[in-house]
Amino acid sequence: MKVYKFGGASVGDAAAIRNVGKILKEESRERKVLVFSAMGKTTNMLEEVHRLRFEMLDWRPAFEKVANFHKSIASDLGVSDGALFSDFQATLVKMEDDFSNPLSANHAMEYDRVVGMGEVLSTLLICAHLERDGLNVEWVDVRNVIKTNNEHRRAEIDWERSQKSADILLAHLEEDTTRTIITQGFIAQSKLGNMSTLGREGSDFSAAIIAYLLNAKSVTIWKDVPGMLNADPKWFNNTVQLPHISYNECIELSYYGASVIHPKTLKPLQNKNIPLFVKSFSDPSLAGTVIDATSDYDTLVPMYIFKPNQVLLSIKSRDFSFIVEKNLSDIFEMISESGLRVNMMQNSAISFSIVVDQDEALVKSLRDMLQVAYEVKFNDGLDLLTIRHYDDATVRALTGHREVLMEQKSRQTLRFVLR
Ligand code: ASP
Ligand code: MG
Repeated sequence: MKVYKFGGASVGDAAAIRNVGKILKEESRERKVLVFSAMGKTTNMLEEVHRLRFEMLDWRPAFEKVANFHKSIASDLGVSDGALFSDFQATLVKMEDDFSNPLSANHAMEYDRVVGMGEVLSTLLICAHLERDGLNVEWVDVRNVIKTNNEHRRAEIDWERSQKSADILLAHLEEDTTRTIITQGFIAQSKLGNMSTLGREGSDFSAAIIAYLLNAKSVTIWKDVPGMLNADPKWFNNTVQLPHISYNECIELSYYGASVIHPKTLKPLQNKNIPLFVKSFSDPSLAGTVIDATSDYDTLVPMYIFKPNQVLLSIKSRDFSFIVEKNLSDIFEMISESGLRVNMMQNSAISFSIVVDQDEALVKSLRDMLQVAYEVKFNDGLDLLTIRHYDDATVRALTGHREVLMEQKSRQTLRFVLR
């Protein structure tokens, strides 16, 4: 069995969804589980619905936008009847009903129950379309399979409970080995039975979880790029495609901010040695990128990861005394409470510096906490550049004309905070 994951861009309109059907028909007859994201920018639109509800404003026009977007895709696809289409329509009605209830105190939970619905809508429509298109498909609610703790917006997987549910699904799949399963990325079910989500862009991770639980042979992520590149073409010219990299290299790259694959995706695959393919949905004949245990090709090309909109916070004690372990432990407590992720850090005798994403609200809350006991200097609008497998020419070309505020070097990785 293989797992395929299709992201928002690969199902952003009727033509894209038809293309998914085409890919499926051209691929081998092997059993498949298909994991889909919400269509196009639906998740962002639903975040807007959540924000409006949260601020006690009129969320209905924003919800209408989501509903109309999906209805127009349904009509473009010519999907207008059948059980799945009825479920799709009923889901829209239920969403509106559900969102009309007063907000509970748990805002992260409210976020999940609104924002997670994009994947439910997309899979119902896509499944209805593929069925009409002649495929033997079955819609599966992934909330009956992937179980999490009660945390929201970045729920932790409960592997034991998930495995139990997956075993039941697996037995069901054995009943008809020609059937293709259509299910959702991003969402899961909390211990209390509520909708939970795995974090933005979490559908890659969902595909990996499912592959792990079902002992799949491989995972393929279908993307709008020909494979993994050594840099994001949005920021760099002359990118090259990586035909083959190792799990570990890929984990490093996504840790430093490469946005091709969700960082949590690799671990479950690595644990069961399941290869991951990144392929182009617009040209499936291209080879794409293979990610597996082989590390022979990892260091062949320098790779660059660029993160704009960074803030450098330099934290000093007010009396210029040393920053010692006790201070660091306090500081980390505050960082953890702020919800910010540290992208880079460095310490000296009297100061401790961190680089974080420029999320105004979170950064302000962290500064407010820190300023009670520390003096905090602040530089914003910075870029963070990471070069893996660096060489002199690359470093010169990428940093020569910029002011370097902070630098960190290890054997394979060179990092710069640039103004
Ligand atoms: N739809 C979710 C998002 O846009 C999950 C995903 O696409 O991976 O974040
Ligand atoms: Mg997406």
